[in-house]
Amino acid sequence: MEADSKPKKFGARLCCVCNQNVAALKRPKTLEQIYRECFYAVIEEEIHQVILENQLLEPGERIATGASGGKGLISLYKLI
Ligand SMILES: [Zn+2]
Repeated sequence: MEADSKPKKFGARLCCVCNQNVAALKRPKTLEQIYRECFYAVIEEEIHQVILENQLLEPGERIATGASGGKGLISLYKLI
């Protein structure tokens, strides 16, 4: 039996970021197939870049957050 790094699921697509793990999500923004953990990393990096490019936060600043309980706000709260 030969070593195989390909996904075990037949017909499964690989993540467009790492090209190793089986994609579990399809990004609505780009329609790319992506592994869940890679998706979290990509989103976190995109938010980080938006904060930097728009100088939204300065070192040492305090952030107040509020959330209604919706999944989008909960995700943003977790990222911040
Ligand atoms: Zn990946």
